[in-house]
Amino acid sequence: MNESEVIRIMRTHLEGRFPKVCSNCQHSYLSLREYLLNTDHVGSAIPYDAELGNWNPLRPIGTATYANCPCGNTMALTSKGMPLPQLWSLLNWARVETKKRGMTPKELLNYLRDEICKQVLSLPPEQWDSNVDDAYTYR
Ligand SMILES: [Zn+2]
Repeated sequence: MNESEVIRIMRTHLEGRFPKVCSNCQHSYLSLREYLLNTDHVGSAIPYDAELGNWNPLRPIGTATYANCPCGNTMALTSKGMPLPQLWSLLNWARVETKKRGMTPKELLNYLRDEICKQVLSLPPEQWDSNVDDAYTYR
């Protein structure tokens, strides 16, 4: 597994979490792209299992990244729903890479989050998800 495969798996998983509804204002984010365009990251992404040194968790706590909806509500995108073998292979890759790069699991996850954001936000219009009209924004 290499970095671009890891990013592809994570991105596919995240894109599968949409549509996503804000529990406060009920706004429905139709795609990861719409979500990234209209929310603000809150703090660092958190690789809970890796931070605990748990690289093969049977009951994973998961990884999470938080963002604020314009209404002020904080929403989370997590690894929830990812099959365990897939999660384990990502964690195993992260265990090796953090050592190789001299990064903490959190630094590595933040780096991957940035790369995914860059990819999603630089997509040409014909590759935007589910025919979402990008002229539509929440604000
Ligand atoms: Zn909201």
